[in-house]
Amino acid sequence: MDIAEIPGIPDWFVTHLQEDGIEELYPPQAEAVEKGVTEGENLVASIPTASGKTLIATLAMLSTVARDTETGGKALYIVPLRALASEKREEFEQFEQYGLSVGVSTGNYESDGGWLADKDIIVATSEKVDSLVRNDAPWLDDLGCVVSDEVHLVDDGNRGPTLEVTLAKLRSLNPALQTVALSATIGNPEALAEWLDGALVDSDWRPIELQKGVHFGDALHLEDGSQERLALRSSESQEAAIVRDTLEDDGSTLVFVNSRRNAESAARRLGGTTEAFLSGDERAELAEIATQIRDVSDTDTSDDLADAVEKGAAFHHAGLARDHRSLVEDAFRDRLIKVVCATPTLAAGVNTPSRRVVVRDWRRYDGTIGGMQPLSVLEVHQMMGRAGRPGLDPYGEAVLLASGHDELDELFERYVWAEPEPVRSKLAAEPALRTHILATIASGFARSRDELLEFLEGTLYAEQAADRDQLQSVMDTVIEYLEVNDFLERIDGTLAATSLGHTVSRLYLDPMSAAEILDGLADAQQETETQMTAFALYHLISRTPDMYELYLRSGDEEEYTMLAYEREEELLGRAPSEFDDAFEDWLSATKTARLLEDWASELDEDTITERYSIGPGDIRGKVDTAQWLLGAAESLATERGLGVSPAIREARLRVEHGVREELVDLAGVRGVGRKRARRLYEAGIESRADLREGDKSVVLAALRGREKTAESILENVGHREPAMGEVTPAESVTDALDIGDAGDGDTEPSSDGGQANLGDF
Ligand code: ADP
Repeated sequence: MDIAEIPGIPDWFVTHLQEDGIEELYPPQAEAVEKGVTEGENLVASIPTASGKTLIATLAMLSTVARDTETGGKALYIVPLRALASEKREEFEQFEQYGLSVGVSTGNYESDGGWLADKDIIVATSEKVDSLVRNDAPWLDDLGCVVSDEVHLVDDGNRGPTLEVTLAKLRSLNPALQTVALSATIGNPEALAEWLDGALVDSDWRPIELQKGVHFGDALHLEDGSQERLALRSSESQEAAIVRDTLEDDGSTLVFVNSRRNAESAARRLGGTTEAFLSGDERAELAEIATQIRDVSDTDTSDDLADAVEKGAAFHHAGLARDHRSLVEDAFRDRLIKVVCATPTLAAGVNTPSRRVVVRDWRRYDGTIGGMQPLSVLEVHQMMGRAGRPGLDPYGEAVLLASGHDELDELFERYVWAEPEPVRSKLAAEPALRTHILATIASGFARSRDELLEFLEGTLYAEQAADRDQLQSVMDTVIEYLEVNDFLERIDGTLAATSLGHTVSRLYLDPMSAAEILDGLADAQQETETQMTAFALYHLISRTPDMYELYLRSGDEEEYTMLAYEREEELLGRAPSEFDDAFEDWLSATKTARLLEDWASELDEDTITERYSIGPGDIRGKVDTAQWLLGAAESLATERGLGVSPAIREARLRVEHGVREELVDLAGVRGVGRKRARRLYEAGIESRADLREGDKSVVLAALRGREKTAESILENVGHREPAMGEVTPAESVTDALDIGDAGDGDTEPSSDGGQANLGDF
């Protein structure tokens, strides 16, 4: 279909597409238009990775905004990961030149996002949208269209239920809402279409040919029955041989592995292969990128990444800082980096196609069963779908690696020829139902058991549940739990949230977390003699289901059992017995609490990442979650009239800034951060007042003579005359602090932490 024939979209968009070199719709896009996607019809599009799903969404959104200009119609684009929100924002911000406004909302679960009311297109994670609904964001009534990206993730045990409930709520708020759901190819797209009352576009079409296959011995065995010779040289691994072979043909490779550590070590090794293929210019450019990478953060991860990048290889996982990730993605797209070794987060939507994809590990560790589990067909196909860059490569190849004949056969059966699994709702899991049933009642969506049932019947879960009785009995168990814990009350057949219940829902807490926190705080109140320490609070929030605890590694059990006993007096609530299953959780919480304490005691980012074998992005993730949960604990304490708020507040500020008590005031000044605060303090500038009134030469010396930094900090703290002009650094301070030329490293823990939710990836 010629793009000029698409009904309902603004003329400028046609021109815009033409300028981008897009003249014709891809067949699945044309089918979507024929099925009314630009005329307000609901649609489910189940099509392969990189086959132009975003354009389908864009067509729906722009036609909504164009159609509903008078009513202020807006469109909402729901992304599964924070990392994808910024990617989509950049894409949609191109439309600002035509007068559209774009807003992104991912953090802070407590506001109603009032500023979003003026935006035409809003990008947000499903958690954020859920919280906007709970906070009654008034502009939700103006929504004309909602797009759900990667909707097959309703199958994800952790985050799927929120997406599912959020879609159901938006649709029940506004029955005329157009719903467009984009999915990878799955086994049961009809089920999604039925649930969302939408037309279905179900297609295998790809813009560039993809051949799947398995490498074994000296050859690539492809799905069409052909074989390509691809022999290993002495001591070469299979993936190295494939990377080399691809480079001989001037192509790049994406290698998927099953853990961060494996991604890092594979990149280190493959650098040995890519190095030989670099031109002089490429070396120089890569060296420059490596420097930028080192500047992002002062950690081993940063150094390791830079070392690999200098050789033309890189790793990519959720432990990386956001700036690391974008440097790697850009350099890979520019064909400077020749191979990227990644965990599956990269397959989930970040647009980085390459000539070949190698799925090196097809099993991964699953903590719930304590062993290795094969990946799903859906996941493997999504990774494979990244092969082949339209317009650049003649075709794409995606291969698994077999070490024997049997494995060769198994991989063909299991993945190459297999159909992806059907998607199934995970809403039945109790934590999910607990949270969402409370929220549904608190926000007035349902006021009785019958209304609740009616609402739940709009979910995929109900669509797929074996029978109605099962749905009802699970629902009743949850209502009872919420009632017993004083989150809900039942009066004459109506259901209403208590004041506590409202607070919990607004705070976006799992009710079980709230119950745990309240128990712990009540315990602290009884023991008035003992001071409530920051560690005790960190432990308390770390054992709630809302904190992703650190795993215990081998040897950890002993260490943290000791620590838990040593500090038993301090901890809030009673430790479970060592023979109880809950004991392991208690230890994981102890480990997580110590990480937070380390951070709030000014331990170096480097030391922490090493001590807990995690990446800098993980520290950020834990710190963000801790800040949120401590803020919630403060609200709960106030709600219940417990006089413990000051201690919680201090623990929260310490973790927010990563400092000890005495620096909380200083570190809160914009531009200061933990390391600078410490140096200022050592130089005798101990508070904001000191900053405003103290000797400027001392401030300048403590800030290593950096005039610009000093001026902006003084400005931020409200100094009457921030200009440094003739001021020189006080020598006494420079000598005393022994300020060398070591990197400044005054950073917050880097990365946006948005991926911390993905567990070990
Ligand atoms: P998906 O979301 O399905 O993974 P994208 O929407 O990111 O895929 O599309 C992949 C690439 O294809 C993008 O670079 C996009 O600009 C390009 N593209 C999409 N539709 C067309 C089209 N009709 N003609 C040419 N290129 C297109």
